[in-house]
Amino acid sequence: MANRLLPFLIENRGVRGFAVEITEGIPDLLGWRQYPPDVLRLLGHVLAATPLLAADLRNETRLNLQFQGSAQAAAAPLKLLVSQIDQNLQLRGMAKFEPGAEGDFQALMGGGTLACLIEPRSGGERYQALVEVLGDSLSEALEIYYAQSEQLRSLVRLGAAPDRFVGLMLQRLPENSSDDDWVHVYHLAQTLHEPELLATEAEVLLRRLFAEDRVRVFEPRPIQLQCQCSHAQISAMLLGLGEDELKPLLVERGRVDVTCEFCGKEYGYREVEVRELFAAAQAQAAEHRLQ
Ligand SMILES: [Zn+2]
Repeated sequence: MANRLLPFLIENRGVRGFAVEITEGIPDLLGWRQYPPDVLRLLGHVLAATPLLAADLRNETRLNLQFQGSAQAAAAPLKLLVSQIDQNLQLRGMAKFEPGAEGDFQALMGGGTLACLIEPRSGGERYQALVEVLGDSLSEALEIYYAQSEQLRSLVRLGAAPDRFVGLMLQRLPENSSDDDWVHVYHLAQTLHEPELLATEAEVLLRRLFAEDRVRVFEPRPIQLQCQCSHAQISAMLLGLGEDELKPLLVERGRVDVTCEFCGKEYGYREVEVRELFAAAQAQAAEHRLQ
């Protein structure tokens, strides 16, 4: 299994954790946009972190992690960064940036906000947590997020190379873990740096880090790094925009072309197809009113 989420438990310390490894599908999803290296690395960190956040999702649910650049800083190099995952660990993500965007975490994301939105597909309660981006790395920002929104002590480590995104999270289970247990585990894992995380398979890493402890590894779950865009979805988006919004485009070019922001796939609509789309929606709405 190339892309996977590996749950584990450090039994004698009352600490649970997850490891993420993503190696498949990276060029297919991200290759079209030509990300600058620093932005790609940050996006890799975000894509590795998202399955960690989604590990507890049940039912038909989608989790959106969205970074919004600082409104004050007009010249912020990173405008927007989004990743989405569902309960089956279907994952996609993208970033919008200024040409030549570069720099470390603070340079790219500092002063912005990070929103985590959990949406049940079949309606039901939406949950949103919004935090300021603090700390020197995404790992630290997520640890602060967990402490603030879930009151959970956690440790997050992330790694990204052009062909490999990896992550490790440890979380204290408050009922089963003493302060000493947590400090012990935290100190061991703190020695882990990005090159080692990137170079080592999760099981080997866990054995190496927690050699003295009892680590139980559970069945890994596959992660699919791929876009879920479809013609139906794009049509719904155009209907949402409304016919008036599209008129100038139709007048100017005789057609509407939409590019998926995530994977770059193009969806083209000729003028007659746009008209048919709206006519069908109106007919459906009229039928609905008659019922
Ligand atoms: Zn797409």
